Amino acid sequence: YDDRDGVIWMDGEMVPWRDAQVHVLSHAMHYASSVFEGERAYNGKIFESRLHSERLVKSAEALDMPMPYSVDDIEAAKDEALKASGLQDAYVRAVVWRGSGEDMGVASAKNPVRMAIAVWEWGAYYGDAKMQGAKLDIAEYKRPSPDTIPVHAKAAGLYMICTISKHKAEAKGCSDALFMDYRGYVAEATGANIFFVKDGEVHTPLPDSFLNGITRQTVIAMLKERGVTVHERHIMPEEMSGFEQCWLTGTAAEVTPVGQIGEYTFEVGTLTREIAEAYEALVRA
Ligand code: PMP
Repeated sequence: YDDRDGVIWMDGEMVPWRDAQVHVLSHAMHYASSVFEGERAYNGKIFESRLHSERLVKSAEALDMPMPYSVDDIEAAKDEALKASGLQDAYVRAVVWRGSGEDMGVASAKNPVRMAIAVWEWGAYYGDAKMQGAKLDIAEYKRPSPDTIPVHAKAAGLYMICTISKHKAEAKGCSDALFMDYRGYVAEATGANIFFVKDGEVHTPLPDSFLNGITRQTVIAMLKERGVTVHERHIMPEEMSGFEQCWLTGTAAEVTPVGQIGEYTFEVGTLTREIAEAYEALVRA
């Protein structure tokens, strides 16, 4: 991703893509002092842009990183980066991190907090077979408890076990891994939330130990508008044997049907298709 033409917004300037570099002694690289957003633009407009900017600011606050930019500044910067990309449909990655500077220890209040925004093309998150039903592995690690780490921040440190688990899943021929939480309840995939269908009603884990995704909230609203009952609750893994349909939601994943999780299988059913299509229509509206 580093060797290409284009520009990246970096601390207020548009920098040639290949020159958008940071120092090896950046605090973020040693201590995970980094938060980010993943957003998608459709027809030249970022879907729920402001919600993403607000979440970015909140994530930075959770990591005690004083944001040098307001939500309005971030909105303007993303607009500028999207326009400079020349893309209509694009993935937008904003990242805020603590840079290199006076301190090299864990405490680093004097090191500058920096921001970059890169825009590129990103097709279907799980590849072209999106509507066939993804296959998920069950992750070995658990989503951590809210009293061990700020679980609602979209922070780099929370992704370490995601990378490990997704690599393991891919080595087994799966597209992703599903995490249980620290209590053993079904939680989320490595970059997406999860929904199940049974007898025409929808069940989705309560986001009390993981990111309450913007796509998740959008999809819940869409279901309720359609008169579908949505149960946000704790779900035990054994319950998956009784669920008929399953899908993932996320900015990158959009609405992706799931065909299998470990030993449990699901059909790509009518409601799954309907919601995937309705989401596609909404983001382009
Ligand atoms: N959980 C995790 C761990 C994620 O990385 C993402 C993607 N940001 C989500 C859930 C879904 O969030 P959203 O719908 O806001 O993209």
